[in-house]
Amino acid sequence: MADNELCAGCLRDNEEEIAVMWCNDCEEPVCRTCSKVHRRFALPHDVIEIKDISNVSKTMPKICKEHAGQKLLLFCVHHDKILCPVCLSETHKECDINHIEKASNGIKESSAIYDLKERIHNHKGVIEKVKEEYNELSSKINQEKEQQQKRQNQLRSIIEDRLNKLDKYIETHYIQGVDKISSYTERLTSLAQITQANLQDIEKAEIDESEVNLFHLVKHLIPVNCQMRKISAFRE
Ligand SMILES: [Zn+2]
Ligand SMILES: [Zn+2]
Ligand SMILES: [Zn+2]
Ligand SMILES: [Zn+2]
Repeated sequence: MADNELCAGCLRDNEEEIAVMWCNDCEEPVCRTCSKVHRRFALPHDVIEIKDISNVSKTMPKICKEHAGQKLLLFCVHHDKILCPVCLSETHKECDINHIEKASNGIKESSAIYDLKERIHNHKGVIEKVKEEYNELSSKINQEKEQQQKRQNQLRSIIEDRLNKLDKYIETHYIQGVDKISSYTERLTSLAQITQANLQDIEKAEIDESEVNLFHLVKHLIPVNCQMRKISAFRE
């Protein structure tokens, strides 16, 4: 039972008082002062110490929901329903009615309570089983998730590996290509210089040298020039 339950009547009047009693007629907690008032009504209310009230009594309504203030004192055998006197006069006039005291007599030894307990036990079993199944399912899902993650990580590392290799390939080939081109360029520069020198030699020899010497020069330069043409064709 809650330690500091408040008086319901005082709360309705915006006051907070610790409830120390329970009114069975109003089905609510009451403070010491209010409990006296409830006992002093023309039809005195049944007020008891709050510590003596069980949880079941506190949560089970004993007042009719449809007829305010009417106690549920009767039991309709035909409709298997607990009633108040107004219910009886309105809708259960033709029914087989017992007083609740009589209807509840022997319930503790009856098969009804045994059956109910049995059913609750069964429900508990079913709930436990379903819970177990859910636990198994959840661990299965977790396992699958881990496996999927593992597979994904493997795939990721394979892809990264491939990409790295591709990067290296591109790098190597690019550098090699650039190196080749620069060495070809150097060779072309020196060839151009040689060609220029040859041309100058020929022009000079045309003016200054004898025809015999020019002949020698031409015969010397023709094969050299052929070689150069071959060298300059390396790019093909
Ligand atoms: Zn009361
Ligand atoms: Zn009060
Ligand atoms: Zn009623
Ligand atoms: Zn009835």
